[in-house]
Amino acid sequence: MKTLFVLFSVLFFAEVSLAQMDENWIKQAAVDRLLRYVKIDTQSKEEVDRVPSTEKQFDLARILLKELQDIGLKDARLDEEYCYVYATLPSNLSEEEAAKVPVIGFIAHVDASPSVSDANVNPIIHKNYQGGDIVLPNDTTQVITVKNNPNLLNNIGSDIITTDGTTLLAADDKAGIAEIMTAVEYLLKHPQIKHGTIKIAFTPDEEVGHGPKYFDVKGWGAKYAYTIDGGQRGELSDETFNANTAIVTFNGKNTHPGYAKGIMVNSLYAASYFISLFPENMKPETTSGREGYLHPYDLTGNEEQTRLKILIRDFEMSGMEAKAKILENMKEKTLGEFPKVKIDLNITESYRNMNSILSKYSEVTKFAEEAMKQADVRPVNLPIRGGTDGSKLTFMGLPTPNIFAGEENPHGKQEWVSDKSMVKAVETIVNLSNIWAEKDAGK
Ligand SMILES: [Zn+2]
Repeated sequence: MKTLFVLFSVLFFAEVSLAQMDENWIKQAAVDRLLRYVKIDTQSKEEVDRVPSTEKQFDLARILLKELQDIGLKDARLDEEYCYVYATLPSNLSEEEAAKVPVIGFIAHVDASPSVSDANVNPIIHKNYQGGDIVLPNDTTQVITVKNNPNLLNNIGSDIITTDGTTLLAADDKAGIAEIMTAVEYLLKHPQIKHGTIKIAFTPDEEVGHGPKYFDVKGWGAKYAYTIDGGQRGELSDETFNANTAIVTFNGKNTHPGYAKGIMVNSLYAASYFISLFPENMKPETTSGREGYLHPYDLTGNEEQTRLKILIRDFEMSGMEAKAKILENMKEKTLGEFPKVKIDLNITESYRNMNSILSKYSEVTKFAEEAMKQADVRPVNLPIRGGTDGSKLTFMGLPTPNIFAGEENPHGKQEWVSDKSMVKAVETIVNLSNIWAEKDAGK
């Protein structure tokens, strides 16, 4: 009996996941949402010791709360203090089956980048794009060129959504919110697509690095999650840099320059010599892909003492150690040239590659790839040359890779997104919800 039931389940689920989704409905629903959300200014602010960094993020959070309640997610709630929106889409499996399926979650952020204003966004839809550069109407010096955006050519026949050239679009990450919301609505309208318990969260302050700070990981209750906040169609990231910060302090000896002969030891010369030793092929401006870097980014000082801050980045821990060794050698060489200067090198940990944890739960990434393939999207695993909210959440006990939302040229006036990418992101979320159920319910 049990075997028969399992067999039936597998056949049933497989058939559903192969079914064609209603792309027109998805497109309309997702794009309409994006156009509504981008009208709301949600810019976050750097160096504010509070979450959310700006009160206006609540404006969108309240709309999202109401919308979640309106589409039927009864437990939707807003954290009135820290501006997180949480909700649950209950499983449509039998109780016995649902208990076997891990609770998964989808996350997007409400804030927009502090880099360019997102007030009074005037979204422009370039219908049925046929190739060529896109000139933005209210500032014609802003041109989205095919040369800098070769991915435009993968969107021939799609509608391309841009700004009028004077603001951000903030498709980063309002496209992600629109896609999650639309996927939830789609799942509610199509109960034949089976899924376990699905959790939804919209977070503040991602752009200023504080998104996970007050995230209620435990209360939310997902076992695995996905941020929907990546670029091109197919993008999937389960890897970030390892990151350390080094501080090098050069201690000299100051005295009145008029009477300094034989006494003064000027730390500035030692610091400047040290900086000249950074290897050329290991700088942010000379590396890409999986290469790490050493990056001096802040220098303050005088004759008595100079302090240099350095970023150390690498995907591998062995690369981190090698880079620390290089700094150590640079220190020794500088001491050789400036024997009277005292040099301290101090390295502290910033964050770690989330892959060190995610690799233990390989199905989290594998199922996302499968969900994309079912939506006719070729997955491209792209290591992130930085940290993400997902990497912090992963280390807070919630393994969270990142999936494309379709946002391109984020943080600038030439931001754009295609309706095709949005549809494919929605389909990926729907498929992924189903795949977790399909793989685990029958076990
Ligand atoms: Zn983002």
